[in-house]
Amino acid sequence: MLNIVLFGPPGAGKGTQSQKLIDKYNLIHLSTGDLLRSEIAAGTKLGLEAKKLMDNGLLVPDEVVIGMIENKVKEHRRAGGFIFDGFPRTVPQAQGLDKLLQDNGTEISCMIALRVDDEELTKRLLLRGKTSGRPDDQNEELIRKRVQEYNTKTAPVADYYAGQGKYFSVDGIGDIEEIFKDLCQKIDALKEKQEEKK
Ligand code: ADP
Repeated sequence: MLNIVLFGPPGAGKGTQSQKLIDKYNLIHLSTGDLLRSEIAAGTKLGLEAKKLMDNGLLVPDEVVIGMIENKVKEHRRAGGFIFDGFPRTVPQAQGLDKLLQDNGTEISCMIALRVDDEELTKRLLLRGKTSGRPDDQNEELIRKRVQEYNTKTAPVADYYAGQGKYFSVDGIGDIEEIFKDLCQKIDALKEKQEEKK
């Protein structure tokens, strides 16, 4: 299986690139942000609780997102692989994911990070807020809070995968197609290695 963690701060382009990667490699896209927003739209108890945190730029508790991901992984037992987008966002989430995949007889193949600086992120998110209708993209203070949450809680997740020799990164600024090409290059190199091992 090809299980990719697509990593990077809010606004790095994970959603855009995930869409292109799932088409090319036939993977299932699991975005905790999207899953949480559907819970909110459906007005579930989980959604109501999550909304309070999301509206303040804060992370939702680890157990909540791990539980959601677990359900989805089990729903797609026969998938060729997954792209995890916006997850894991903390080291305990990464540990939870490792355990969950191990229990299902598979593992993370790699983490690929999109490198984008803070100024560019703020610009992109404010622009996205104009059209996406996402409340968390319409307020500069909230955006800064999310980037701060990322820098303190999420950035260490990269070290977690680096420690397993699974971390790669590409430049996330520039042409969408160029960035996609760079991502594919990393993935194809990895797939070749996986094939050799077989
Ligand atoms: P972005 O990364 O572009 O800000 P997402 O759609 O990935 O947007 O997430 C939006 C919000 O949902 C986050 O700010 C956070 O409050 C919540 N969230 C999403 N994924 C997670 C996660 N894995 N753990 C905790 N909270 C999460």
